[in-house]
Amino acid sequence: MAATRLTEPQAGELGPTGRPYPAFSNPEPLLEHGPARIIAVCNQKGGVGKTTTTINLGAALAEQGRRVLLVDFDPQGALSVGLGIQPHDIEGTVYNLLMERGVIGMDLLPSNIDLSGAEVQLVHEVGREYVLGGVLAPLMPDYDVIMIDCQPSLGLLTINALACANGVIIPLECEYFAMRGVALLMETIEKVSSRLNTKLTIDGLLATMYDSRTLHTREVLSSIVNGFGDKVFHTVINRTVRFPDATVAGEPITSFDAGSLGANSYRELAKEVLERWRQAGDDHEG
Ligand code: ADP
Ligand code: MG
Repeated sequence: MAATRLTEPQAGELGPTGRPYPAFSNPEPLLEHGPARIIAVCNQKGGVGKTTTTINLGAALAEQGRRVLLVDFDPQGALSVGLGIQPHDIEGTVYNLLMERGVIGMDLLPSNIDLSGAEVQLVHEVGREYVLGGVLAPLMPDYDVIMIDCQPSLGLLTINALACANGVIIPLECEYFAMRGVALLMETIEKVSSRLNTKLTIDGLLATMYDSRTLHTREVLSSIVNGFGDKVFHTVINRTVRFPDATVAGEPITSFDAGSLGANSYRELAKEVLERWRQAGDDHEG
């Protein structure tokens, strides 16, 4: 049985995904900001780590000097609540998290349950798939990364996110049935990229809630890697109670428990993501 992983794997070792773990270079500091790369964090299954990934990858990118805007695009408003913000108070405005939560370089566009009403109304709009893109367009020069926390469905709100995104990050929980529904998600992404948004690509699949002590999470992870190969991030997020604890505290784990494995995993993911964008050649950071 594999030993419990208490630290990040070292470069050159076999990583949890069964591939040699690369050394991610430290990202270059940015000399100027924008235009933003838009990332949809998407999986129609609930409870897989979309909101947790949006908050903590966002915070880790902000630590790297990136200007980050988080968009709460789930009517349940879990992203706003996870950052200690009552979404009803501040609807429709960009919210500076430094002011309230001490998070430097990260802003929030909150939402609330009214969004589900918006979804019904949107159905009748001309260009209904592009409404979010229109809202975000004027904000793009101010940010390096805009991350959209999608709702757990493939409805019109999620289509709006995919229709304006450059990349999709798909969190997958390392549990049985993780792959259930992924084919449908991939089909939807394909359709959006051929019909609505040709710039859309899959930035990567992220294995979450991994526990190296249990055979079944290791099996699920290897089946994810078998299915999706290099699209799967080398970085894997372990299952730890520090994530729900951080949610209750209304903070990213990178500040709530700055030295924890969970915080460091999201920092590794930030480096891996920045490296992927640089290699794909559409990193405005040059
Ligand atoms: P989603 O947005 O996909 O519905 P969440 O990010 O809200 O999923 O996560 C669902 C629940 O699981 C939350 O209570 C969250 O705190 C918890 N959670 C997320 N990631 C982890 C993890 N790596 N380890 C343990 N619990 C986690
Ligand atoms: Mg969520």
